[in-house]
Amino acid sequence: MADDAGARTGQESGPESNHDRERDAIIQAKLKKGSLKLYELEKELSPVDAIRVRRKFIEEETDTHFENVGIFSIDVERVVKRNCENMIGTIQVPLGVAGPVLVNGGYAAGSFWLPLATTEGALIASVNRGCSAITKAGGAEVRILHDGMTRAPVFATDSIIHAVQVCDWVKAHHNELVVAAESTTSHGKVNDIVTFVAGTSVYVRLEFDTKDAMGMNMVTIASAKVADLIAQGTGARLIALSGNMCTDKKPAAINSIMGRGRSVVAGVALTHEQISTIFKTDARSLFEVNYRKILVGSARAGATGFNAHAANVVAAMFIACGQDAAHAIDGSTCITTIDLTETGVYVAVTMPSLPVGTVGGGTGVDTQQECLKMLGVAGSGTPPGSNAKKLAEIIAAGVLAGELSLLGALAAQHLARAHQQLGRG
Ligand code: NAP
Repeated sequence: MADDAGARTGQESGPESNHDRERDAIIQAKLKKGSLKLYELEKELSPVDAIRVRRKFIEEETDTHFENVGIFSIDVERVVKRNCENMIGTIQVPLGVAGPVLVNGGYAAGSFWLPLATTEGALIASVNRGCSAITKAGGAEVRILHDGMTRAPVFATDSIIHAVQVCDWVKAHHNELVVAAESTTSHGKVNDIVTFVAGTSVYVRLEFDTKDAMGMNMVTIASAKVADLIAQGTGARLIALSGNMCTDKKPAAINSIMGRGRSVVAGVALTHEQISTIFKTDARSLFEVNYRKILVGSARAGATGFNAHAANVVAAMFIACGQDAAHAIDGSTCITTIDLTETGVYVAVTMPSLPVGTVGGGTGVDTQQECLKMLGVAGSGTPPGSNAKKLAEIIAAGVLAGELSLLGALAAQHLARAHQQLGRG
């Protein structure tokens, strides 16, 4: 109990006894001499003490006083083992809420307050307005289109003939490879194994249903086992466990087309009256902003994302909910569409790649876990996988809210300008 309390609250206090102070001084001297590495501190000290001593060392090295970095409440015992090496403290990112937003999903059903961790002023207010519009319109319809996390090892072969033989071997040994992959995990299931050739390089893209895990570690471990079998069976040389056709943390057409993580789509129908009262604009203006900015502008720019600011909501909700923040880049490949209807517009966001999980990774950090609990998705779902899909649907509804609000604001200005010009004419 004492250890636990210390791990959560003792960060700003210094060593408690003379003995502790002497020990810290000896360790600081070893660090300065280089006989003890900064990353080795946890071998000699408890995580809390290691963090404090490391912070002090960095303060002296950089002539910086960390008045705030050292104050935190999260349980660092777990964090230093799983989430963060060379830890010296935490960064506090302001957390706000938008909502509630009504979601009519395949997994998420009901009203949700969205947790958003951000320092971008006006973002939450904007998402809040979108949430209100969605709720007034009867809620966001949301569905999971596809679900699969990927890893694609790259092999070197001797010739293009050898490369094709490797692809044929993988196809012929599909079942054996599936058994090997699934022997490494009690949750993951292989969805598909697809091969790609570029000259003498062969890429084997393995896709897994990772249930409630985002799954990068899970599929990397499983792919290592498969890659060994392929190398043994074909004589191809494994060059890298990730051959970049996965594709992890880079915007890539393959993820947009084939999906990676949870692929999710969300839409809402707004009436002419709702467009007018909430957004102070009209259906045509909304449609035109979407057409000229989101579709034509993005195409002209060669962008891989056709949206207003999907990454804003993805990043803020990822940080709040313990997701891998670098995957905001995948979320940025969202396509926002607006259809003109007889009654108003139908606005949709299609997100081919939203890698999210509710177990593993950063989801267990205390503050992030609280946000997942607020959404009712912490931990394993029943059945496994349902919590992660629910989280993906809620995030997609948040992205829809963000898109609606920004497009509405742009369209309202566009409308105001048009009226001004007409008035002058
Ligand atoms: P993880 O932290 O490795 O934990 C996932 C494990 O939780 C699963 O493998 C599974 O164990 C277990 N689990 C328990 N209940 C589960 C449930 N209901 N559904 C699914 N699994 C359940 O997390 P991960 O999602 O595989 O990987 C995420 C981490 O990978 C993040 O920290 C991310 O930053 C990092 N990452 C790694 C790489 C890489 O190349 N290794 C790349 C990018 C990011 P069993 O498998 O034993 O069933």
